[in-house]
Amino acid sequence: MALMIIDECISCDVCVPECPNEAIAALGDTYVIDADRCSECVGDHESSRCVDVCPVDAVLPDPNRVETREQLLAKKTA
Ligand code: SF4
Ligand code: SF4
Repeated sequence: MALMIIDECISCDVCVPECPNEAIAALGDTYVIDADRCSECVGDHESSRCVDVCPVDAVLPDPNRVETREQLLAKKTA
């Protein structure tokens, strides 16, 4: 399941360098996750790094992007 950033985001930029797939980017006043790149960190980390580091809990699972472990692994870039 790809993740998404909600309105609570304070644009602190902390999550961007943590993403192994360069899936997070600034967009106007907030930050967004490219669902086609987000692997939920499967194959790279035990948990989703953006969720771990976000100080305001602004990253949540996107219920519209339910994926299997195989689909998530296929998005791993390195
Ligand atoms: Fe990047 Fe992992 Fe967050 Fe997805 S869960 S946006 S791959 S840090
Ligand atoms: Fe927004 Fe959280 Fe990322 Fe900071 S770490 S830019 S608050 S989503």
